[in-house]
Amino acid sequence: MNLLVLADGGASRRTLPLLGDLYIEWTRQGRKFYLSPFEVKLSSHIHGEDVCKEHCELGIRQISVDPQGLLFPCVQFTTAGRESRWHMGDVVSGIDEEKRNQLRDESQDGKEPCRRCAIRRRCHNTCGCLNWQTTGSVARVSPVLCRYEQILIPIADRIGETLYREQNPLFLNKHYNPAYTMLSLLEDQKLLDVADREESTPFDRAATHEKE
Ligand code: SF4
Ligand code: SF4
Repeated sequence: MNLLVLADGGASRRTLPLLGDLYIEWTRQGRKFYLSPFEVKLSSHIHGEDVCKEHCELGIRQISVDPQGLLFPCVQFTTAGRESRWHMGDVVSGIDEEKRNQLRDESQDGKEPCRRCAIRRRCHNTCGCLNWQTTGSVARVSPVLCRYEQILIPIADRIGETLYREQNPLFLNKHYNPAYTMLSLLEDQKLLDVADREESTPFDRAATHEKE
């Protein structure tokens, strides 16, 4: 998530719609790119529960290991050390289940306004480390994040609606074809190979031919 954008709600209101327009324009031009904030929200609409159920649950879905082999609930806490409250076991003795459950209960507590929010399944309110960094509690969501999500999601939906209505081939391929990433990689590699061949001089080609 772009914390620079997050830090200023006014900037988000101005820049995110412009970024949304650029997303549409570049896709119409057939340009390949990945704009993470929009891609994630588009995916949460298109794939619904399949994406939402993969949301991070602190200490449950993700475990991070520091260079000493200590376990933490998220990569953001790996510098906290053995004495910190985030330390939840190590690679030799395994996960400290009591600490893990404590963290899970703590991160799922509260978030009262989110329980009734229509976009809660698509919102980043579950990111415990972001909550911790911005509010001092893994369970409390920053009002800035809340506003950001409320601005971002309708823009992502506008992008999806526009490009879907146009049946844009790149958009449909990117978001509905499970093999898109692999096919796109192969296509890029093929283009690179062609470019390399075109850039090589007759001398290079003769040398390659001689080796063969
Ligand atoms: S938009 Fe705000 S109220 Fe709604 S789920 Fe996200 S953080 Fe909670
Ligand atoms: S950064 Fe947030 S979403 Fe990612 S693992 Fe950490 S707590 Fe979970």
